[in-house]
Amino acid sequence: MRIPQELVDQMVDHAREEAPNECCGFVARRGDEAVEVRRMVNEAASPLRFEIDGLAAYRAIDAFEAAGHELGAIYHSHTRTEPYPSQTDINFAANWPGVEWVIVGLDRRGEATVRSYLIEDGHVREL
Ligand SMILES: [Zn+2]
Repeated sequence: MRIPQELVDQMVDHAREEAPNECCGFVARRGDEAVEVRRMVNEAASPLRFEIDGLAAYRAIDAFEAAGHELGAIYHSHTRTEPYPSQTDINFAANWPGVEWVIVGLDRRGEATVRSYLIEDGHVREL
């Protein structure tokens, strides 16, 4: 999926606003193009993990589909580690086959590195 710079910037802004806690959200896609970033609440409010409320997730995905889009990616931030999926991420991703995994890494100075992965059967592949 191609993610326009404007949407990448929206995810980075979100990560900076929530830091040091992890942010999280969804990216809608139409075909092979990302079209919308939707912020979600990190129910865990933690710098080490994120948790999305099930009903809120259902509603967000429903809204994407109503607009003729589909869920393309789940994004979240890493504020203390490299932007690489943790074991927790890999376990979580098992519930979301085919959905890309975008991680916004923030270093100490707030500089962002954004990477996208596909996680399938516990294997991580960078896109
Ligand atoms: Zn993570």
